[in-house]
Amino acid sequence: MDWINKVNTPCYVIDERRLRENLEILADVKRRAGCRILLAQKAYSAFATYPIIAEYLDGCTASGLFEARLGYEELAKPFNRENHIFSPAYREEEFDEIAKICGHIIFNNLRQYEKFKDRAKGVSCGIRVNPEHSTQEHGIYDPCGEFSRLGTTINELNDLPDGIEGLHFHTLCEQNADALVETLAAVESKFGKFFGKIKWLNMGGGHHITRPDYDRELLIETVKNLREKYGFEVYLEPGEAIALNAGYLVTTVLDTFKNGMDIAITDASAACHMPDVLEMPYRPNVQGAGLPNEKAFTYRLGGNTCLAGDIIGDYSFDSALSEGERLVFEDMAIYSMCKNNTFNGIALPSIYLLRGDGELVLLKKFGYEDFKVRLS
Ligand SMILES: *Cc1c(COP(=O)(O)O)cnc(C)c1O
Repeated sequence: MDWINKVNTPCYVIDERRLRENLEILADVKRRAGCRILLAQKAYSAFATYPIIAEYLDGCTASGLFEARLGYEELAKPFNRENHIFSPAYREEEFDEIAKICGHIIFNNLRQYEKFKDRAKGVSCGIRVNPEHSTQEHGIYDPCGEFSRLGTTINELNDLPDGIEGLHFHTLCEQNADALVETLAAVESKFGKFFGKIKWLNMGGGHHITRPDYDRELLIETVKNLREKYGFEVYLEPGEAIALNAGYLVTTVLDTFKNGMDIAITDASAACHMPDVLEMPYRPNVQGAGLPNEKAFTYRLGGNTCLAGDIIGDYSFDSALSEGERLVFEDMAIYSMCKNNTFNGIALPSIYLLRGDGELVLLKKFGYEDFKVRLS
């Protein structure tokens, strides 16, 4: 890891070797289960690596027009891959462009489908369903909760109109195959009456397929059985699983001091550069660091903004941290680059690619103009 001291900080470093390891796993699942796998761009949209992703996956999916355009320009069109989209509600002025660049459009309800169906000629249309079966406790990530605005419940779906070719559900978040099996049982018991009519079933994202303890055999069996039973195509559209553990956020310690405990200010900010640390919330791993008090020197690491809660977490180290020292946060390729912001006028981290051959390539560097361009 001699590159750690060569990079400008803060920066994200995408690790091509790790990315390919994930993609190999996903390609193996695809092959053995006979399903298709798409990149959910909302988790990871480092398009410089789309040519790598295109070697393994069937395409990508988007949450709106801009992601759909990115997927079309950088993956679907140049590599002849699929481009899918789901949005809770489509915008009138954007729909025609969406229908031009997306082969699959998923509607949140029948009302949306009826509104736009005549403008979606030649597109494979689907409806997102809500199986009303929660398998997780993170309320903010649970589309099956009370009064959910995501997906159509069985109460609202007596019949599948002509022209609907697929069903979609997305209810998982960082989960194993057991949660999928349980969810699928709920989907089948409620919406199974339509399974004979559809050409495809999209089982969304949230499948943590590339995590070491993920039960891939169960996933493969489940998908295979489903395909044999109904004869439709099955799609998975993971985001996280594609770039899980395939990137770092490298930061420099700017200052250290005491206030009841040792505190270190870094040039990476939880609020700006790893918002899920605060939103989810979770504690990212730092290379070489332990839990508080596990090692000799414990610090509270925090960002360089004025937000009191811009705290990454408490970590212990073998030796005291010094100004100028580099720290490496792990698993920072997902929900980071595509979610960061310039709150406080904090600069966006540079983006590097650590190529498979070990060469470090600077993909993009941001500056004052990138802050100013979003303001007026
Ligand atoms: C978020 C999302 C995904 C990807 O989820 P991950 O948890 O990153 O795997 C896929 N499909 C839809 C509809 C989503 O909203």
